[in-house]
Amino acid sequence: MASNSSFAPPKLSDFILTERLGSGTYATVYKAYRKGDSREVVAVKVVGKKSLNRASTENLLTEIEILKTMRHPHIVQLKDFQWDADNIYLIMEWCSGGDLCRFIRSRRILPERVARSFLQQMACALQFLHERNISHLDLKPQNILLSGSVLKLADFGFAQYMSPWDEQSVLRGSPLYMAPEMVCRRQYDSRVDLWSVGVILYEALFGRAPFASRSYAELEEKIRSNQPIELPPGARVSKDCRDLLLRLLERNPDARITFAEFFTHPFVDMEHMPSAESLVKAKELVLQAVQKDQEGERSAALSLYCSALEHFVPSIHCKQDFPQVSQYVSRAEELKALVASDNRRSFEEARTSRDVLREMSRDQPRLLAALEVASAAIAKEESGMDDHEALDVYQQCLGELLLALAGTQTSFLSKRDGFIQLSCPLLL
Ligand code: ADP
Ligand code: MG
Repeated sequence: MASNSSFAPPKLSDFILTERLGSGTYATVYKAYRKGDSREVVAVKVVGKKSLNRASTENLLTEIEILKTMRHPHIVQLKDFQWDADNIYLIMEWCSGGDLCRFIRSRRILPERVARSFLQQMACALQFLHERNISHLDLKPQNILLSGSVLKLADFGFAQYMSPWDEQSVLRGSPLYMAPEMVCRRQYDSRVDLWSVGVILYEALFGRAPFASRSYAELEEKIRSNQPIELPPGARVSKDCRDLLLRLLERNPDARITFAEFFTHPFVDMEHMPSAESLVKAKELVLQAVQKDQEGERSAALSLYCSALEHFVPSIHCKQDFPQVSQYVSRAEELKALVASDNRRSFEEARTSRDVLREMSRDQPRLLAALEVASAAIAKEESGMDDHEALDVYQQCLGELLLALAGTQTSFLSKRDGFIQLSCPLLL
């Protein structure tokens, strides 16, 4: 049990601790903010020194060491670390959406589309860990946090550096999410994380873990059985999703899907998941689309625009907590309407909108650059310049603007039609 759960939050010199966010195996986590001007909101994980035995001290030190070195959009960031006579404090990035356990419970089951988006983000974090030879070993919904729609792995208390010749034989973690080889053979490696991902996906889709039981004995019996895992009767999931679930939930780790196969599985679809490259890929495709558009090959252009979107949408997930999102959404909608119209008066009005956009884009160099280019295009057109030249500048602007918009708001670009409407009137 966590030692601080029933008491007032402890005092820290640089932070004010407020509400309790949760507690787990040996810690209580509070929401807190930094004293002074910034009032930065953080999560402080408080571990009572008294509650620590030698083993858990080692776990905690491992957690600190691992977390401190990690920077990844889908891994909770450890910002700082302090201690006093009673407690150890881990100052972490605050995840506003709470944990995945609560999220699933509040919705009972998640649509496949939502579960898949979470799965992709988990895969992204796991790939990062896997490349560094790190296993989590305690993956479960309680240790997966949400910040907006961004998922983040947390609680690396049990994680440790793994190498194939240094297998552990200690049983730990949560039985419901624990791979059978952990319980039965007490011999396991990083492949247990793949099993846990399968359990989490199963629970997200069907509202309960595959081994959900009324007693520990029942749970143990289910874990020890040789029966292959089956999906609940009447389960309605896509073929790819079913295939992935059953391959993750393979009892024999040697027959289980491998990390490499997992990352390339069509349901995980790493190619379209959030990454820094998403924008680069999207931009390349947009340029090709523009080319086809110019050549009058509308259907080829259309399919390229759509492919570009497939990359724009995940790239949007990388951005989070952007304070002006809704402002940009409505501004983008307005801009779309302006662009879609070839009415000259609209362009006059656009000037005012441009001014507003410029004001809003002060801290957004990309958006500002796009607007500069747009102004140049409009100037060229107004000065009666060669249509082709103006068109070129418009296209350049469009690419920039789409990237800027992709980085600042979500609903607009997630509408394929909006994308096409924005692009075509400029190009045709
Ligand atoms: P333990 O090691 O005791 O299991 P965790 O790090 O898993 O502790 O945190 C316990 C719970 O506190 C989590 O399940 C989650 O509900 C909440 N929590 C932890 N870290 C954060 C955070 N950074 N932001 C929001 N909630 C958090
Ligand atoms: Mg935990």
